[in-house]
Parts: sequence; structure tokens; C-alpha cells
Amino acid sequence: MKILVVGGVAGGMSAAARARRLSEDSQIIVFERGNHVSFANCGLPYHIGGDIQNRESLLLQTPSTLKKLLNIDVRINQEVSGIERSSRKVTVKDLSKGGQYEESYDKLILCPGAVPVRPKLPGIENPGIFTLRNVDDMDRIKKVIDSGKVRTTVVVGGGYIGIEMAENLVSRGIKVHVVEMLDQILPPFDFEMAKDLQNHLAANGVNLHLGTAAAGFREKEGGVSIELRNSEVIEADMIILSIGVRPDSELARDAGLKLNERGGIIVDGKMQTSDPDIYAAGDAVEVRDAVTGQPSMIPLAGPANRQGRIAADNILGKNSSYKNTLGTAILKVFKMSGACTGASEKTLKRNNIPYKKVYLHPSSHAGYYPGASPIHLKMMFSPADGRILGAQAVGFDGVDKRIDVLATAISSGMTVYDLESLELCYAPPYGSAKDAINMAGFIASNYLRGDVDCWFPEDYPSKTNGGMIIDVRPEDMFNLWHIPGAVNIPIGRIRDELDKIPKDRNIYLYCKVGFNSYLAYRILVQKGFGGKNELKTLSGGIMSFNCHHGPGICSSEGNTPFVPYAADSKNIEKGKVTTVESSTHDVTLDACGLQCPGPIMRMKSEIAKMDAGSVLKVIASDPGFASDVKSWCVQNGHQLLGISGNPPRIEAKIRKGNMTEPKNPQVAVSGKTKKTIVVFSGDMDKVLAAFVIANGAIAMGSEVTMFFTFWGINALRKDAPQASGKGLMDKMFGMMMPKGASRLKLSKMNMMGMGTSMMKMVMKGKKVDDLPTMIASARSNGARLVVCSMSMDVMGIKKEELLDGLEIGGVATFLQEADNSSATLFI
Ligand code: FAD
Repeated sequence: MKILVVGGVAGGMSAAARARRLSEDSQIIVFERGNHVSFANCGLPYHIGGDIQNRESLLLQTPSTLKKLLNIDVRINQEVSGIERSSRKVTVKDLSKGGQYEESYDKLILCPGAVPVRPKLPGIENPGIFTLRNVDDMDRIKKVIDSGKVRTTVVVGGGYIGIEMAENLVSRGIKVHVVEMLDQILPPFDFEMAKDLQNHLAANGVNLHLGTAAAGFREKEGGVSIELRNSEVIEADMIILSIGVRPDSELARDAGLKLNERGGIIVDGKMQTSDPDIYAAGDAVEVRDAVTGQPSMIPLAGPANRQGRIAADNILGKNSSYKNTLGTAILKVFKMSGACTGASEKTLKRNNIPYKKVYLHPSSHAGYYPGASPIHLKMMFSPADGRILGAQAVGFDGVDKRIDVLATAISSGMTVYDLESLELCYAPPYGSAKDAINMAGFIASNYLRGDVDCWFPEDYPSKTNGGMIIDVRPEDMFNLWHIPGAVNIPIGRIRDELDKIPKDRNIYLYCKVGFNSYLAYRILVQKGFGGKNELKTLSGGIMSFNCHHGPGICSSEGNTPFVPYAADSKNIEKGKVTTVESSTHDVTLDACGLQCPGPIMRMKSEIAKMDAGSVLKVIASDPGFASDVKSWCVQNGHQLLGISGNPPRIEAKIRKGNMTEPKNPQVAVSGKTKKTIVVFSGDMDKVLAAFVIANGAIAMGSEVTMFFTFWGINALRKDAPQASGKGLMDKMFGMMMPKGASRLKLSKMNMMGMGTSMMKMVMKGKKVDDLPTMIASARSNGARLVVCSMSMDVMGIKKEELLDGLEIGGVATFLQEADNSSATLFI
């Protein structure tokens, strides 16, 4: 048998290699138009970014290794330009030497793949616009980046390849914009599931432009500017176009093979085309969607490889068939992963397929074993029989195996009831005795059996209007943030406070992730609630709620907590610039493995035992902890000295304050009468201006925080000998810098001190308070004076050299204050 294969990558090489394994005597020739065969196109973005250092490792095989190993005749730079079906011949163009020749076949396998879409937009031919499909494309992109001239790149298209490229460009120190026509990235995911990944991208510096598209490109010196449909113009040095692919099926079209309206080659289960001697596989073929049953184009490496193998099987007499494609996919987005399988909710809606859904946030492994973090999991299933229809997961750890299990479950027709009893591997570092998959089964089965009823983030506020929304979390957590309009009845009190819950209204329960509100549901339903009125629990709790709702409602605004993982990590990323300010601490609390509100509750009880002024170091793995701790400190009058690390190990240091009554967080966060002043300068006139403004703002009813950094700290030094135990450099620094407010000099017209003395005289004459008096009055009127501990360290200033009673703080303190202020001044 003589088998010709067109295309020498995923589908083509799988087909050729399988054919050889089944038939030692067949003649197998692979034609590849490009320079390389059997290369790892999925690895291309990672070589550009530098994770895969060795370019050669992407070239899995060469024509000579394939000849040696499999006795396959692999011809690169050879393009099959025509098929003469009647005589079973192909025409081949020799792209390296020129000329063309014919080759006959018994069976032909077409695996030409898909080409990146290049829309006919003005300026699309600009040489600064790149697409990524093969090794040559990768080399071209990498060469430009390696030249060091690329500072800004616009990635057009927020699909898998676009997002992988965005991450890898950021790894190269490039500023990245991603433009996506939809209002979300990653179209196979549902909106609220993509949100975490979007937040995480933004936290890593990627600028997202959603809901708009490229309108055209224009040459600019050394680069290319892109105009968006919303009229925004972004100046870039390079554009990566990744708005999707289309089947590379001209050859098949010209040969008269049956194609679908998108150009996909139509094949049957044996991968046979409309011509019985021609088979096809990979990105170029139409497949059947496993859930909707509809024809679809799903360009993924796994299906391409399997289809190539099946084509070879059938050609060589083995009866194997390709059923359908689930679209199981995963991608890495910096520290997070997103994966999906089966149908999304929007696909089910579009196809009018009845479904039910649940959200859950199980731990990636046993909560008590270090490093656990939540997985944001969504599962759709049939209301009739519980058959699983689709699932999506986003998180820092354990995402891949959960989606793989669910993909297996879907393809074997399993139901949510089957998930309840799945026996999965378990030891604390890997999972939980009740794995995330079992949990998904329990929750969905409870829902289907009527043991619980659910409401969903999108029901708020239209469907919840008129009902009572009850937050069953602890009071502390409710005070930090809650769904607007909710009342708080913590789960522990609900049995005692049943009289507060009306029986004639709809009741919508919620908690952090949906577990405690489920317990509350079970209590209430057994006490006669529900019945004629709705009694429901929020699926996925506020974690899912926040993913769905945008700014204005969700807790990510105003430094409030309960943000989902990705947004939490945004704060943690911010934490990179928030150094842990105090190197010493009095007590360490290891809250790793505890999920919210665990770390906060433990921290609360630990700090209650400590004296004011002492420092608690908390280590936590809950990604929400980074933002929780900030708000909790504000609310309870403690000083957050700093946060460092990333999930699954976040460290926070907190100096205990001595506030007796907690602040009302709503006022602290939203009452923007505050002013924050950064005093950077050590010039008398500038520091004076800062205190004039501070005292004025206090007089007008504002709270004022002054953050002293670098030279500004000198205004707060005591006019006294330096502290003992300082090193030589620190001492010299200390000698050269002014000791206190009365020693500061004018920024202009100082004239060897004469100007400064004259100014003091003038102020005295005009009855303007001198600087030390202004400082004292600001302090006595309640101004909060915070000294930057990092600057103290750099400048060798010790706490005892400063005025008594000042706060030492870090960038986090300043940022917290600035966020809650109506004005922030830098002096
Ligand atoms: P291809 O691998 O594209 O191979 C087709 C080959 O045919 C090409 O080399 C082409 O030059 C050649 N050819 C076409 N016409 C002719 C002709 N007339 N004559 C001779 N040769 C011809 N999928 C995943 O599942 N996971 C991932 O992480 C992932 N990452 C990706 C990252 C990138 C950057 C890219 C580009 C793709 C990625 N994919 C990923 C998709 C995956 O690579 C494809 O689904 C898979 O390679 C398809 O295999 P194929 O054989 O159909 O086509």
C-alpha cells in the first residue's frame, strides 16, 4: 500500500507513525510545506517567553530521525498543490529547489491544519503584525523581541494563543495590551469563569481592552499603531494577531471534496472524506460536538493526534472510529490555570438544551496540608437524568485533574450521582477524602433530589427583589462586606433567631462558598420555611457572586474582601511592592490550610491575647487572606505592617492597635472625607505647606493621614544625640541631615541660612505658627503621622530618634489610606 500524508505535524505525523506500526511493508510519504515536521506548536509561545530555553527541544523529530526510526519518507519544503482523484495522484511543488512532480497514492491522508485568520483591515500588511502558527513564525517574533526594540505589544484576540502570548510577552518585560471583541477573554469559558483569569492578567500588568476590536493599523516610526473600534489608538512596537484560525482546506476544496460552510473537511467516523480513498484529520476537519451533537470546528492537538491515528487504523484494516470532540482544554495564565470540558452554559443556552448548574469552591487538597487553595468550579448537568454536560475550573492548583476526571465522566455518559461515589486517589498533599469531584456530585445530586434549592449570582437584584437576603457568615465577615441589602444572621445563631425570618417572603441565603448557607437551608426547610415562598441558597456563595458582578456591587471595590482568587492575587501581586516592614515579630500564627474566614477568625483570637504594639506574623494559604487582612486591620484599628508572598504562602505582619471599638467599615471605606499627604520633601517651606493643608483639612472636618518618607522624615526627628548602636554610615547620614522641624531650611533663597532665618522672622511677625507648633497642633487635632519604615531603614534613622508616639508603617498603610481618601497630595 502506498500512503501519502499531507502535513507533517500533529495529525499528519500521528497518521504516518501509526500506519508504519500497523504495516511494515507500506510505502509512506509525508509532505510538509514548511521547514519542520513534528514540532511542538503548543510550546511555541513558551520559547518566545523564555520558559523553554532550548529551541531544538521543540523539534521533536526530523526527516532523518523519522526515516531511521519509522522508515517514513518525510519531505519538507514540499507543498502538495493539487489532487487528481480519478488517477489517484497528487502534484507536489518543491519549494526549496523549484519545480514540481507527481506522486501516486493508494490512500491519501489530508492533515493540513488551520491558518490564522487575517482580516482585511486597513494596514493589515504592516510588517509589524505577526501571527503564530509554526516554528518560522516563532523565530520571526522572537528575533524582533530579542533585538530589544519591543517595549509595547498589542495582542489582538483573547483566545488561548493570544493569552499564552500575553503572558510570555510580559515575561520578556514587554508592556502588553490584549484586545478582545467579546466582553470576556477565552470564549469557550463562561463570562464569570473567565473573570478570575482576567483579574489575574490585569494584576500581572496586562491591559485588557474588552468589547472592542481592531479597526485598522497604521505605520508609525519603528512600529505600528492600532486603532480600535471604540476609537482608542494604541501605539505599539509589535502586533500579535490571534483572532482565530480557519481550516487550511483549499487543496481539499479544489479537489472537490465535501466541505462545510466554514471550510471544514467533512469526514465520517473513520475519518474518511467524501472520497473513499482520501482521509482527513486535525484542525481542518469538521467534528461533532460531544454534548450538543452539532457539527463543529474544534482545533486542538489531542483530537488531531487521535484522528490521525484513527485514519491510519481504518486505512490498514482496523475498525476504529472517532466519536466526537468535547473541547477539553487548559491554559496557564501566570500562576493560575483555567480548564474546561464539554458545553459551556452559553452553548447550552444557544442550543436550547435544558440544564442545571452548580458552583463550588473546593480546596485543591486537604485544607490542613500546606499549600491548599480553592478551585472555582462550575458544572452543568441535565435536569432530567443528571448526565454531566460541561464543566469549567479556574484556580491556582489542582484544576487539570478535576477537569480531566469530569471530561472522562462526560465522555462515558456519567451522571452527577455517579460522581458522588467515585473513588479517587487521596492523601493530604493531593486531594481530600471527599474530593472536589465528589463534592460537585454531592451538591448537584442534592439539588436534583430537591434537598436544596439554589439561587445564582445573576438573580441579584431582579429576582431577589422583595425577598430577604440573609448572610449567614460570621458578623466580622459581614461587616467587612456583604451583598447590598442583606441582613446578617450567622449560621451559629440561626436556630435562635428564627423569629427574625419572615415566613411570607422569599428567602435567599448566602455565605462565602455555599456550604454554610446550605446548612442554614436545611435548618430552615425543616422548620417550615419555604413552601409557597422561595427558600434558596446562593450557589458558590459570594465567591461566585463576585465573579459575576462587576464593580459597584462586588467586594473587590474599596479594598473590601471576599474577592475571588484572581482578584485576591491582584492584591498579592501588589503586595510585591509592599515589603514586610517589620523584620521582627512577637507571635507567629500558621493559618495555612484554613479557608476564609478561618485565617481571620484565628488571627482575631490570637491578637486578642496580645498586648497593644506587639506584632503578629500570620502565614496563610487562602488567597483571599491578602485583601481580608487589610480591611480587617482598618476596621479593628490594627496596623498592617506589610504583606508578602503569593498563594499558597502569604505572610502578613500586623501591629496590634489599642482601639476598643471597631470602626464601621462602610464609613471607613466609603466615607471619603479623608485626605492623605505624602511628605517626601525635607524643605521647611514644603513641610510647612503640608501642615498648613493638614491643619486646614482637619478644621474642615477631614481625617488626615501624613505619610513621611525620605527627607520628609527629618521634620519629625528629635533635636537630640543620635541613638546608640548605629553603624558608621548611618551615623554620618544622621549627622548630615537636619534634626527636626526647627532645623529645616528653605528650598529657595536659603542663602547660607539667612533666608531661612528671615522667613521665620516674617512668620513670627505675621503671627504664623512656626513648624514645630504646626506639627504639634496637627497631632493634637488627630492627624495620623506615619513614618515610612523602609525610608527609616535606608536613612539609618531609629525610632527613638523620632518624636514620640509616631506610627511606623509601610506602603500598604499609605495605599490603604490613599484608597479611602478623596485627595492624596505628594509634597
Ligand atoms: P498542524 O499542526 O497545523 O499541521 C498542519 C501542517 O500541514 C502544517 O505544518 C502545514 O505547513 C502543513 N500543510 C498544510 N497544507 C499543506 C500542503 N498543501 N502541503 C504540504 N504541507 C501542508 N492545542 C492544544 O490542544 N493545546 C495547546 O496548548 C495548544 N497550543 C497551541 C499553541 C500554538 C501557538 C498553536 C499554533 C497551536 C496550539 N494548539 C494547541 C493547537 C494544535 O497545535 C493544533 O490543534 C494541532 O497542531 C493541529 O494539528 P494538525 O495536524 O491538524 O495541523
